[in-house]
Amino acid sequence: MKKTILTGLRPTGNLHLGHLFGAGTNYLKLQDDYEFFLEIADVQALTDNFNNPDKVRHNVYEITMDLLAIGIDPKKVHIFLQSKIPQIAELTVYYSNLVTVSRLFRNPTVKAEVAQKKELFGNDGESITYGFLGYPVSQAADITAFSGQLVPVGDDQLPLLEQCREIVRKFNNIYGDTLIEPEAVLSNVTRLKGLDGNEKMGKSLGNAIFLVDNEEEISKKVMGAITDPSKIKKDDPANPDICMVYYYHKLVTDNDALNTVCSECKAGKRGCVACKKELINNLVKFLEPIKDRRKKYEENPSLVKEILDDGTSYAKEKAAHTIDKVKHAMKIDY
Ligand code: ATP
Ligand code: MG
Repeated sequence: MKKTILTGLRPTGNLHLGHLFGAGTNYLKLQDDYEFFLEIADVQALTDNFNNPDKVRHNVYEITMDLLAIGIDPKKVHIFLQSKIPQIAELTVYYSNLVTVSRLFRNPTVKAEVAQKKELFGNDGESITYGFLGYPVSQAADITAFSGQLVPVGDDQLPLLEQCREIVRKFNNIYGDTLIEPEAVLSNVTRLKGLDGNEKMGKSLGNAIFLVDNEEEISKKVMGAITDPSKIKKDDPANPDICMVYYYHKLVTDNDALNTVCSECKAGKRGCVACKKELINNLVKFLEPIKDRRKKYEENPSLVKEILDDGTSYAKEKAAHTIDKVKHAMKIDY
């Protein structure tokens, strides 16, 4: 029998290069050989966007089109909508008893995200909501509802996956062997940095190149990218290893050209503006086929809705089976 994959994305914005290199490349590699559930996590997106439902709704379709544009095949991957699977909410309630509040507060991903969202949760996280604090529990429900064995993610998700594994172990200890412990699958770019040098390119961090960005948007962003601060004049030698422009050249520039970028930068033979322009060209070229594939779906929104509907009804069947097993184990199968 095929192993099962579950992973998800929050409809909080379009896909960016971090998604593509951090997680998307693995989706593409794995989609042929596994039973693959890909969740559009609208309920999770609402935990920190509860005051902006239009944004979440709009991005459900945007992100689905982005996924299809990078080459996700809807015949192989069940793309589904979290809010349409009530069993996930039900599992979340049952699992809530298996996690302490202090453990959730100590979760490194929750801590980092609360620190980034001061406007919403206050300077010291004093206004954090019950829903946001509990989203790792809901994520454990996402994974186990489909008996996910492998979870392709970026490394910001590892503490959440560990939290899920703890819940599974505790559940199985108390109620008997029912759930499967999932494992993370990381790509070779475990966390793509932002153009601003931030440790993570994130949709909600204002430092991302989106797959839908046009040349003008890409130019503006790349022109503002962080370079070696010691290089003042065009012909000063610099260190490419601390330059975000070189960091992105490594993703989209072919090997020979990349060696030239590196050696000319070190020798002071290349100005940052020329180097940025070359990167802009390469990024535009790199994104062209993705944009071409996207057009078909942009012109046919009913096709996107149909893909989501089909994926969701398939996912619902699987989740219904899990909830029966869970309720039986918990002796609430009246
Ligand atoms: P948000 O800021 O709203 O949380 P996000 O950019 O973190 O958005 P998610 O939808 O939370 O995107 O993440 C989807 C997947 O993409 C996850 O597996 C996550 O680990 C991965 N991912 C997101 N950003 C990066 C990145 N910069 N590098 C590698 N992987 C990433
Ligand atoms: Mg995220």
